Amino acid sequence: MRGVLRRVLRVAALLWAAPNSVIGLPLAALGLLPGGSVRLRDGALECVVGTLPQRLRTWGDRLGIEVITFGHVVVAGSHALMSASRQHERVHVRQYERYGPFFLPVYAASSVLALARGRHPYSHNRFEREARRRMEVEAKDA
Ligand SMILES: [Zn+2]
Repeated sequence: MRGVLRRVLRVAALLWAAPNSVIGLPLAALGLLPGGSVRLRDGALECVVGTLPQRLRTWGDRLGIEVITFGHVVVAGSHALMSASRQHERVHVRQYERYGPFFLPVYAASSVLALARGRHPYSHNRFEREARRRMEVEAKDA
């Protein structure tokens, strides 16, 4: 019975986060480019971007985004970045599972609130702080 309940909850979490995962799926296709990869790991689709046309690579660099998570889709600019950020991004996957379609609006609201308080919209975002805090706890427990 416990296994059935766990599976039902797992499917519910996947469905609840699915509107966000749908946003990430087109980006996951970049993992099909030469040098990239797409694989399922620990319940998330991990995509490492392959060789991109230089114009797109520069655009991504300007945004300063090295790894990004949408629902159960994690997209990284390289295999090294994926490995280094896996634990952090898994916290975001769990946040998507908790907030579902409301995650992106509440994430944005947290950044706006940080800005309104004169703080950095990324590093003082409550969801980023939670991810960093949980990584620290896991590192101490390891
Ligand atoms: Zn983060």
